[in-house]
Amino acid sequence: MSDIRNNRRPKNNRRVNGEQRKKAAEAVNSASSVVRTSGTDATNTGEVTLVKNEDYQVLIEDMGNDGEGIGHVQGMTVFVKDAVVGDLAEVKIVKVKKNIAYGRLMKLITPSPYRVEPVCDKAKRCGGCTMQQVSYEQQLEYKWNKVKNCLQRIGKMENVEAIMEKPAYGMNNPFHYRNKAQFPVGRDKNGNVVIGFYAGRSHDIIDTESCAIGAPVNDQIVAIVRSFIEDNHISTYDEETGRGLVRHILIRVGFTTKEIMVCLVTNGNKLPHSEILIDELVKIDGMTSICLNVNMENTNRILGDKCITLWGQSYITDYIGDIKYQISPLSFYQVNPVQTNVLYNKALEYADLSGDETVWDMYCGIGTISLFLAQKAKKVYGVEIVPQAIDDARHNAEINGITNAEFFVGKAEEVVPDIYKKGGDGSHADVVVVDPPRKGCDQVLLDTLVHMAPERIVYVSCDPATLARDVKILQEKGYEAKKVAVVDQFCHSGHVETVCLLSKLHSDHHIEVELEMDELDLTAAESKATYEEIKDYVLKKSGLKVSNLYIAQVKQKCGIIERINYNLPKSENSRQPKCPPEKETAIREALEHFQMI
Ligand code: SAH
Repeated sequence: MSDIRNNRRPKNNRRVNGEQRKKAAEAVNSASSVVRTSGTDATNTGEVTLVKNEDYQVLIEDMGNDGEGIGHVQGMTVFVKDAVVGDLAEVKIVKVKKNIAYGRLMKLITPSPYRVEPVCDKAKRCGGCTMQQVSYEQQLEYKWNKVKNCLQRIGKMENVEAIMEKPAYGMNNPFHYRNKAQFPVGRDKNGNVVIGFYAGRSHDIIDTESCAIGAPVNDQIVAIVRSFIEDNHISTYDEETGRGLVRHILIRVGFTTKEIMVCLVTNGNKLPHSEILIDELVKIDGMTSICLNVNMENTNRILGDKCITLWGQSYITDYIGDIKYQISPLSFYQVNPVQTNVLYNKALEYADLSGDETVWDMYCGIGTISLFLAQKAKKVYGVEIVPQAIDDARHNAEINGITNAEFFVGKAEEVVPDIYKKGGDGSHADVVVVDPPRKGCDQVLLDTLVHMAPERIVYVSCDPATLARDVKILQEKGYEAKKVAVVDQFCHSGHVETVCLLSKLHSDHHIEVELEMDELDLTAAESKATYEEIKDYVLKKSGLKVSNLYIAQVKQKCGIIERINYNLPKSENSRQPKCPPEKETAIREALEHFQMI
């Protein structure tokens, strides 16, 4: 195995010199999930010579979204699980596709300087922490660079580093940070109870006594449930047959209140001998809620819809900042409360509220951000697609005595345009916060935001690629990205959260920009008539002479200057004459004539 065949070893991988080591060390600074095609990497001519089951030396230059190492061999991009950027490794090719290959890490020839011993001995097999073998500083650097690269490549933002807060906001102690755990329960081949985690990309349960990122009390709870199942011969669920009772253990811990919920997910409505389990669990300090969640479906979904309280309350309470939340087994709640506080405070800082503002919180979930903002705003409107989440949002507003928050159920891209068209309350916004799922904002919503023209848009994102796509759209429609902060909510995973502040460009700025533009560089609506054609039309139709400036002002009022030019105006606040009303009417007529509005 260690005998790497010379004829399989590509020329550019034959020897790793000082320069290459430096390149690898630097490679993390351009970390990205995007396959690189430049330089020697672009030499893939379609003649794939990588051979399955052969070993190759690979220099790991980059890391992917799931924490896998990325290197190149003979122009092919090779993904190597468990490899770290900067490693020089012996890799067995296990799968070859058209342009990419997958390899298994066989031996480290020279370990990366960023490599650390994982805290958890199950880290390699468990699907949860994909980056524990990378130093935490380097994880933060990797995430920061991932956001930067997306904003540069997809968002086409130049000089993005100038607006990015550095470094990423990480945790002082990036362990035991999760307030929620869901452990699958089953049996191994010998009939022993196994409780732990699914192995990466599978449903094989890895028996685990301790998890490095979960609350410390989890270990005690799992041990109690394990003994209870064994001693009382309780059956465990078998995915193959759909038989057996206990499927999962869900544990939630209020980090501020220290309240604990233990919920057994069961394939049935009753738990035999539950009093024995309760007797043991209530000995734990902070135990507040013990319940069953009934899931009798043969599905990958962990939770069913029905909850039965066995002991105590049906929910626990926790705080983020000063806001209190009641959390039931089915509630969505951020899993890293410490970093959520950092994230929401950053959103609040970027929102820059004085108390007079009307704010919209799009994709509001249980209203966590809305209630945070409501403390500093005149009025907050939230919209969310899941009705249950909106029930929670309204309830949470009530228990906090917050009366200036109003919530709507529905798709943001339907509810908000509707309210905007109708006018009246909620059709205006000074500040908009969006926190969409990974696919980013719907185009219709973005268009509506542009029409609503808030001064500031605070974009909270869990996927930098879609963030970059949406920021590009907003930058083309009169907004400018001003600040970006990266917050590490999911330490040891490849996930990254970003907050981006976009500010509205003001008309004098915008219009000067417009006048500098080349008329060939036009968007669809504008391209219907040139400035000269509009002037001619206005002159013929109403006998009025109008300037480019007036046309630009009216176009902007009608929302059809859709692009910014990167040549900055000479002065941002230079005085400009305003288009008189009769000329405005004439220009509007021309715009209508050319079907631009
Ligand atoms: N801001 C919340 C939740 C953000 S997660 C918090 O910080 O806790 C994204 C939310 O968007 C989810 O609650 C999801 O249900 C919701 N969602 C997904 N698609 C939506 C849509 N089209 N319109 C409104 N909400 C949507």
